[in-house]
Amino acid sequence: MFRKLVTLDEARKIIRQRFSPEPLAIEEIPLSRALSRVVSQDIVATLDIPPFDRSTVDGYAVKAEDTFGAQENKPVRLKINGKANVGEMPKAVVKPGTAVETVTGAPIPQGANAVVMLEDTELEGDELHVYSAALSGENIMKAGSDIRRGETLLRRGSVLGSGEIGTLAAAGLLKIRVNAIPRVAVLSTGAELVKPGRRLSAGKVYDTNAYSLGAAVAESGGKPIYAGVLPDVATQIQDALTKALRSADLVVTSGGVSVGPKDLMPQVLDSLGKPGVIIHGIAIKPGKPVTVASIGEKMVFSLPGHPASALLIFHLLVQPVIQTKAGRKPDLPLQLKALATMKMFPAKGRRTFIMVRLEMDAAKRLLAEPVPTGLSGAVTTVARADGYVEIAENQQFIDAGEEVTVNLLKAPRPSYIE
Ligand code: AMP
Ligand code: MG
Repeated sequence: MFRKLVTLDEARKIIRQRFSPEPLAIEEIPLSRALSRVVSQDIVATLDIPPFDRSTVDGYAVKAEDTFGAQENKPVRLKINGKANVGEMPKAVVKPGTAVETVTGAPIPQGANAVVMLEDTELEGDELHVYSAALSGENIMKAGSDIRRGETLLRRGSVLGSGEIGTLAAAGLLKIRVNAIPRVAVLSTGAELVKPGRRLSAGKVYDTNAYSLGAAVAESGGKPIYAGVLPDVATQIQDALTKALRSADLVVTSGGVSVGPKDLMPQVLDSLGKPGVIIHGIAIKPGKPVTVASIGEKMVFSLPGHPASALLIFHLLVQPVIQTKAGRKPDLPLQLKALATMKMFPAKGRRTFIMVRLEMDAAKRLLAEPVPTGLSGAVTTVARADGYVEIAENQQFIDAGEEVTVNLLKAPRPSYIE
């Protein structure tokens, strides 16, 4: 029997009390290997970018006031006085009545305060005809206008994507201090499970959860360690868990948490160390039998075997733990409002999660359409869903046409109804 069902909020509180939110360790890695890693401290620019005023166009560096009054039929004439190039500080100087030839990216020569575009000029011998007046500062990117020395480029907890990595390269950083990646062992239990790729004999099903949960671990910023498929044999599960707890920072298992004779997980977890099981059952649907154990400094999340339930519970309970251990700032809740396409009922006394797909009607209203789950959570439910609607423990139902909040599991791609 379940010891005592706790509410989802109580479960989250119990988990928070048990685990240290501090990231694991700090590593220094080369920028070329930093994609998706998490910055362990604020990164401050040590120089201005660009380091010098530079031209943003091909043309001529001038004193803007020398070009005032220039028009298409009445050019201003300036004397060419040398050339500026990219990659070196120009020796040429712009004195009154002169211009220095320049190219995009070249430092602005002394004396100039604007660049006229090549297209607005014509060269006749060493005399430049300027057909359009320049404003002071025109076509010049000032030193430090992109990144200013002393400015915080990235905050602690930022995840490095291509844009962030480019920023660090522009600031001249080759080595970056990042948080260690939490190692998360993923273990499936059930005598009926067969590894994908093998032949499926009668009565067996392919192990889905090791792969979906492994991918979810990686999406959350952890490194999945595949700890295998185990039959419903207590000693074998115990051995595998002991090993997993040694090599990983966190363990996620699936299957074997219900109340059937083959559901051995709670008793095995209790045998591994103190304090053992801290949550045995949560008043939610789906996922009621979820069991959480705390063994020394580490945690084991034992999720129900139904693939859709396992993924939902992972999303609700495990993902935030991995993200915190990875040192990531928690994701902003991705939510939007939509209209329920049908009446939705909660399970009595349990917070209920209904997977929905987003659709858009002819009037461009977003609709939340429940994904049919079959009797008990089909494998493809989560793959078909864009998110879920939450119904509170004490709520009677959600009516068709009522506005609901959809918690997104991924970026939405609503389909149109014809
Ligand atoms: P259990 O939680 O062990 O009672 O399993 C509930 C249901 O989920 C059963 O139909 C199992 O066959 C199925 N199941 C359990 N683990 C997996 C898994 N790793 N992959 C696919 N289905 C699973
Ligand atoms: Mg089972």
